[in-house]
Amino acid sequence: MGTVEWDSPASELAVKQFEIVAERLNLDRNVAARLKRPDRALIVSVPTRLDSGDVHVFTGYRVQHNDVLGPFKGGLRYHPGVNLGEVFALSMWMTWKCALAGLPLGGAKGGIACDPRELSRTELQSMTRRFTAEILNFIGPDIDIPAPDMGTNEQVMAWIMDTYSQHKGHSVPEIVTGKPVAIGGTLGRKDATGRGVVYTIIEAAKHLKMDLSRSSAAIQGFGNVGLVAARDLAQLGVKVIAVSDRSGGLVNKRGLPLDDLIQHKEKTGRLEGFSRAEKIPGMDLLELKCDILIPAAGELQITEENASRLQCRILAEGANGPTTLEADTILEKKGIFILPDILANAGGVIVSYFEWVQDLQNFFWTEAEVNQKLREMMTRGYREVLQMSAKEKVGMRLAAQMIGVSRVAQAMLWRGLYA
Ligand code: NAD
Repeated sequence: MGTVEWDSPASELAVKQFEIVAERLNLDRNVAARLKRPDRALIVSVPTRLDSGDVHVFTGYRVQHNDVLGPFKGGLRYHPGVNLGEVFALSMWMTWKCALAGLPLGGAKGGIACDPRELSRTELQSMTRRFTAEILNFIGPDIDIPAPDMGTNEQVMAWIMDTYSQHKGHSVPEIVTGKPVAIGGTLGRKDATGRGVVYTIIEAAKHLKMDLSRSSAAIQGFGNVGLVAARDLAQLGVKVIAVSDRSGGLVNKRGLPLDDLIQHKEKTGRLEGFSRAEKIPGMDLLELKCDILIPAAGELQITEENASRLQCRILAEGANGPTTLEADTILEKKGIFILPDILANAGGVIVSYFEWVQDLQNFFWTEAEVNQKLREMMTRGYREVLQMSAKEKVGMRLAAQMIGVSRVAQAMLWRGLYA
């Protein structure tokens, strides 16, 4: 694709994965050329007054990859490593994810290069409001609907919703998903991604004839996705033997005291300082002997370097893009069953879709309804991918991407621009 500004290790991975799928599907070459690039990539300056009185100019991004199936949809990430290439890669994965889940939505992603833990609440709010103002003309309930991702939460979504509503002169809850329930959020959104990961694990365990109540799990990342997945797995009787966050890893082969750990994390904001488990370096967690491994932090964690040392039976990708192409080949040879990101972590966008629908209709569902519909859609997605994998004799990742990409390509051909 040449050296353009959105080149990065993550975008290289996303584009290479796409090229493999395009070749396998024998995709129309005009469609393929278009899908390799985003529709639109926006870089904005976000001047923010800090508590010190200085004004710091943060850099913000919104990349809209494809909206042939419906409005753009995707999270906002606050993290020091955010860059255009990473956001582009994440936006492309969102396109395939929405298509695979059968949602009438396209793919986008955004973020600000910042460390939210270093910012006060006032600074975070000012930065978020200014960012919203900068992208205001490019988002909208029928255009592009942001949501939370790493480093953002329901409070950030509430500020975005408020800023957008102030500009429009009336309340527009349907501009973001992942909002607090009190202002138009849906029940069940906060837990949806982790819960969805666990629904796919349940299906995979049935397929592999694994007894979950005799299984163990290790989880990288103890945030919105990792913590909920850990809690839900423990409820099924799975022994959670290790977890990690930015501050490092904790292991206890007999099972971690999860309730206390969650309390500690809620109180201190990190795992560090918890005394009832052994400390391990964060990356070592990935190589522990366990039945289920869940990467639920950043991209490119499982690589050519460490893939051969993984000892899990199921790799359930809570994070987006945690596994490189080279690692994929190694894992496949080792017989590790992969629940790929665009399938395993789709619960977040599925319940975001439910939230958007409820906001548009001003009619709200019970949590049981949300969870039941989520489970149905996750299970359907899993079965479609498994079937494709068997029919085409390909791994689960390629199968999932083939379904997502072919649905988007079909829609483009129907709409008539490319053939
Ligand atoms: P979060 O900010 O709530 O939590 C991230 C966690 O990862 C934190 O505990 C953090 O300390 C930890 N972490 C960061 N770097 C780490 C490292 N090097 N080693 C170990 N832990 C590390 O974010 P989240 O919303 O849980 O998102 C996690 C992943 O899941 C991301 O890849 C995100 O794109 C993906 N995802 C999130 C959602 C969602 O609804 N939030 C949906 C789909 C996919």
